[in-house]
Amino acid sequence: MTVNRVPSITLNDGNTIPQLGFGVFQVEPQDTAKAVSEALENGYRHIDTAEMYGNEKEVGEAIRNSGLDRGDLFVTSKLNNGFHEPEDARAAFEETLADLGMDYVDLFLIHWPLPTRYGGDYVSTWKTLEEFQREGRARSIGVSNFQPDHLDRLAAETDTTPAVNQIESHPYFTNDAVRDYCRERGIAVEAWSPIAQGGVLEDSTISGIADRVGKTPAQVVLRWHIQRGNIVFPKSTTPSRIEQNFDLFDFELESGDLEAILALDQGEDGRTGPHPDTFDYVPG
Ligand code: NDP
Repeated sequence: MTVNRVPSITLNDGNTIPQLGFGVFQVEPQDTAKAVSEALENGYRHIDTAEMYGNEKEVGEAIRNSGLDRGDLFVTSKLNNGFHEPEDARAAFEETLADLGMDYVDLFLIHWPLPTRYGGDYVSTWKTLEEFQREGRARSIGVSNFQPDHLDRLAAETDTTPAVNQIESHPYFTNDAVRDYCRERGIAVEAWSPIAQGGVLEDSTISGIADRVGKTPAQVVLRWHIQRGNIVFPKSTTPSRIEQNFDLFDFELESGDLEAILALDQGEDGRTGPHPDTFDYVPG
């Protein structure tokens, strides 16, 4: 087991987060406990879920059944899109904690800014997350899919800088303008869909590097993120991939390889998810 080899990143509030974790987006509830148990057995200690994923209960179940100390785990969840009004956010957060079966999360995020909804008011939502942190029920708080102008507004109108911004980032869409903005302001960058849901693994530049260093394309891309300082939590329900994605710490990419992967960036054409400025999905 290589649990101790995962580097920790210190967040701007002094808390630390394991740089490599396990994501459970699009893992069906009935498959979630098994996948998370498999990840924990392989040494993962950081789990990224969300109310929107519908599997917080099963994440909590796997963690309880693991016998691990809660203090040795880092659990992130996110506020669902329909609940940005402060009262709704409080109720949704209660439900997240109840579903996880925990009295705190390590990190709680606003999942999407939804600037075209709620009169563009993600500021009062953020102030509600500040309450959760003051109460000790969210050790760290952050955002997801926030663009620089959204972050500028939080900086101007609130007292707390988000600890993280979780954004789409992978070799075909590095999203470096947002990434650089965050890093300059002490906001840690979490890269979602780090292997573009598999979409970058057939790339000949990536497979060429993989063949040369004796690793898989997924390991090369995940290692690239790690060396760039991104926090990542690849998703898989395949045991051999769960194991493989955790095995990133016995090799290093040369600077030429890092640059060759960076050069694959396609800008906006490489984006796989919605644009945060226009995404306005609210469940049911
Ligand atoms: P990933 O980039 O992690 O890719 C997951 C896909 O790649 C799955 O289809 C998986 O297949 C496959 N895969 C995983 N490992 C390998 C491997 N070693 N070799 C080949 N294929 C592999 O996509 P996600 O979108 O899941 O992103 C990761 C996490 O980021 C999410 O789970 C979630 O926690 C977070 N996220 C956050 C978002 C946000 O808005 N904040 C949006 C999207 C994701 P299989 O499972 O069949 O093995």
